[in-house]
Amino acid sequence: MITIDNVSKAFGGLKAVQNVSFEVERGSITGLIGPNGAGKSTLFNIVAGLIPPDSGRITLEGTDITGIPPHRLFHMGLVRTFQIPHEFSRMTVRENLMVVPAGQSGENLFNSWFRWARVRREDSRVLEQVEEVLDFLEIGHVADELAGNLSGGQKKLLDLGRAMMTDAKAVLLDEPGAGVNRTLLGRISAAIQRLNTERGYTFCVIEHDMDLISTLCEPVHVMANGELIASGPMAELRQNEQVREAYLGGGVSGRAGE
Ligand code: ADP
Ligand code: MG
Repeated sequence: MITIDNVSKAFGGLKAVQNVSFEVERGSITGLIGPNGAGKSTLFNIVAGLIPPDSGRITLEGTDITGIPPHRLFHMGLVRTFQIPHEFSRMTVRENLMVVPAGQSGENLFNSWFRWARVRREDSRVLEQVEEVLDFLEIGHVADELAGNLSGGQKKLLDLGRAMMTDAKAVLLDEPGAGVNRTLLGRISAAIQRLNTERGYTFCVIEHDMDLISTLCEPVHVMANGELIASGPMAELRQNEQVREAYLGGGVSGRAGE
């Protein structure tokens, strides 16, 4: 379980995250929604150890992880998925999956990856796992494509695949549906669901696609202007006056967007 306890973060005078507290229960697919500029990504970056909070605390299964860097969180079972790094776009999909632990955990990524790639290629368990991930996500047909040539949706699936190659069981997904066509969005959504029910992965998902959120997530937390304004099942939140107002713009549009 991830506990976000009274976390705040300001950038200059801008209060990006203000006194936010909620829990991501183990085994849940928890949603995080809110208008652009609400502070969702900032909160994720704090939980993932990319930026320190000004105040507040994050715990993972009761252990204080506030300020612990991503490569150590990775070993503790928590990852935030990323866009495929630029350097990996010239590797094939299969290679991208093979080098994940080296890439995520090693600080000297570029020194270690060639060596790692060779070692891992000879490691039959890794190869087996790669094939299994390709199969699970139904991206086997593009296994030998360069990652840079994939469509937006296929990249998101590869991103999920990279998370599957780690031992992480808690995964933060920032807008897995952004720029993805409906068909692939359905596949991504199904993969998240299956990883949750069949493999016990816990997810916290930021997403603007309300269909995806209501299909996958419970509970859902809503942020606006840096604050947590509501929590509950999506069906309830749709009726919530404060949530509706936040999405209408008015009060939230004064904030610089992205
Ligand atoms: P969301 O993901 O909900 O759209 P963000 O967390 O990206 O919101 O942004 C929250 C607010 O913090 C925005 O006003 C954004 O411009 C600002 N912000 C985010 N990151 C930085 C940063 N590194 N430096 C300055 N301001 C930032
Ligand atoms: Mg964001």
